[in-house]
Amino acid sequence: RTSCRGDIALIGLAVMGQNIILNMNDHGYTVVAFNRTVSKVEEFMANEAKGTNIIGATSLEHMVSLLKKPRRVMMLVKAGAAVDAFIESVIPLLESGDIIIDGGNSEYRDTIRRHKSLKEKGIHYLGCGVSGGEEGARYGPSIMPGGAEEGWPSVKPIFQAISAKAGGEPCCDWVGPEGAGHFVKMVHNGIEYGDMQLICEAYQVMKDGLGMSHKEMAEVFDDWNKSELESFLIEITRDIMQYTDSDGSPLVEKIRDSAGQKGTGKWTAISSLEYGVPVTLIGEAVFARCLSSLKDERVEASKQLQGPSQTKYDGDRKQFVADIKMALYASKIVSYAQGFMLMRETAKELGWKLNFGSIALMWRGGCIIRSVFLGNIKQAYEKNPELSNLLLDDFFKKEVQRCQDSWRKVVSQAVLMGIPTPAFSTALAFFDGYRSARVPANLIQAQRDYFGAHTYELLDAPGKFVHTNWTGRG
Ligand code: NAP
Repeated sequence: RTSCRGDIALIGLAVMGQNIILNMNDHGYTVVAFNRTVSKVEEFMANEAKGTNIIGATSLEHMVSLLKKPRRVMMLVKAGAAVDAFIESVIPLLESGDIIIDGGNSEYRDTIRRHKSLKEKGIHYLGCGVSGGEEGARYGPSIMPGGAEEGWPSVKPIFQAISAKAGGEPCCDWVGPEGAGHFVKMVHNGIEYGDMQLICEAYQVMKDGLGMSHKEMAEVFDDWNKSELESFLIEITRDIMQYTDSDGSPLVEKIRDSAGQKGTGKWTAISSLEYGVPVTLIGEAVFARCLSSLKDERVEASKQLQGPSQTKYDGDRKQFVADIKMALYASKIVSYAQGFMLMRETAKELGWKLNFGSIALMWRGGCIIRSVFLGNIKQAYEKNPELSNLLLDDFFKKEVQRCQDSWRKVVSQAVLMGIPTPAFSTALAFFDGYRSARVPANLIQAQRDYFGAHTYELLDAPGKFVHTNWTGRG
């Protein structure tokens, strides 16, 4: 005999699913667990879930029969076909008003499509970004829910209970309609790529340009972690720097320098091209991973292509470390400004209303990019919800100004030493372009008109497009 006492069902017993279930259980919710490979349910029930209120389901029918109404069914399965397959098989078992939640890293356009098709069936579909990895899932992730807002009130108490908290507030709030939750999660991941690349550039300049030891670098990162750069990624970088292998040498130097990627950074870069937003830093971060993966080619090229003769910095080292910090900080401000530009433009295109202050709060804790810095972003948008660009907020304006000389010095020194700093450099180029009333695009327009008769607009006659016969030939 079954009794409908389950608060929520969770499909997918891999790392994320298991930990979210245990987290929900800790907060007093009765979770019904299910997985495609049913033997994993039994294993989970016999081990991790032993002694808890979690209920194992033997089939989808069994799972649904155990749920209170409206039924809440959450999936944490591999993005793509698995999500469609589960939706398809669970639909006949549900009724109008029930809620399906996808907590995986689904592509936001898939979520828009699923949301639309389920709306026709009266099912509330929520696409939620979940960040924080295994640890976050277990003890407090950042959750970015979007989709059918009618379904939000009955999911809200559970999600806000299990999410991370920043300053007492849950790192989970309503993001927006359709695929907004997954879109915001995608931008989060893109920003994560950018943050990681920035730290890697700082590390390379310190290691190769200044010849610093790992112990010295660990001290620097520790120091930075007590400043405006305080963040999870700086903290773990400090730990990585001081981690030695059994032979006493730093383990990080034994790792093959070829970065993996699962695609969310690439999606962010593709979106930025699609919506025409210059999210250059994330783009460079993705390309830097692509370049890193050409390991064999690089090893070969390193034997043939020469760099500059001077590869070490010979000025004031202590000052240069301080400059690197400023370069990282200013570049990070640009990266977030670009990420928020992308969200603003997409929201405009798709007719979504996004609350940027609350997005910053959701990222403030629980997730990989969590940092003190996101608190400043939240304040900027709270002060002015219509802020057109983060760089124009008074606080960030002053911060970039404060960092500017150091930032230029690091980028130029890195160029002279032959150390690639694509993210530092592109951020600076963006900054210089963005603060220019005039860029050389007038020449592009002239060239386009020259070879393709595309016409150009005159500065003193806005809206008037003219063509010139540049060669004088008929
Ligand atoms: P995962 O390795 O992405 O997926 C494994 C789960 O998906 C298993 O339950 C598996 O069932 C199921 N599955 C795979 N293919 C399926 C199919 N064709 N039909 C039905 N079920 C299928 O698991 P995860 O790492 O826990 O991640 C879950 C989701 O959260 C993913 O979308 C992931 O991108 C996202 N996410 C992960 C992290 C992380 O740190 N791992 C962080 C944030 C978000 P079987 O056991 O039957 O194979």
